[in-house]
Amino acid sequence: MLLDLKEVFLNEGTHDLGSHELDLSSVAVDGVNPIPKPVKLRAEAVNTAGAVKLIIKAEFLYSRPCDRCYSLTDKDMRLEFEHNLVVSLSGDGNDDYIETPDYMLDLQKLAAADILLELPLKYLCSDNCKGLCPKCGKNLNEGDCGCSKDAIDPRLEALRELLN
Ligand SMILES: [Zn+2]
Ligand SMILES: [Zn+2]
Repeated sequence: MLLDLKEVFLNEGTHDLGSHELDLSSVAVDGVNPIPKPVKLRAEAVNTAGAVKLIIKAEFLYSRPCDRCYSLTDKDMRLEFEHNLVVSLSGDGNDDYIETPDYMLDLQKLAAADILLELPLKYLCSDNCKGLCPKCGKNLNEGDCGCSKDAIDPRLEALRELLN
């Protein structure tokens, strides 16, 4: 949906651009769709002596398997983005500014790009996730599996032979 920002550009002060929803349910990361429910967006623009800054706040449920133990883990994500807006870019393109031709801004498109770039590359259910037992595959966060701890690591075994 396009937002008309003419009022924002012509009047100084803070402008509430309202609440919006963004559907990112088809976005796939590592074979899962981690954002099944609509993203809640709140947008606001501040005109300071003609310079317009856009602030987008995004809230959504992020649901993806932990990288270590593979259990599905939900996290409430709250992200905030800021952009400088101009009606038209003079001369060569400048990544620091977002162009809003005819005062029109595609808020959803901009927010989608912001969010996708901000998604975590590494995702753990908790910082001290113990992962899965390499022998039996049990989730070690749920308790010890009883497998022998001094399982032979072939690399360590090779090292031991080398040192002896
Ligand atoms: Zn985990
Ligand atoms: Zn085990």
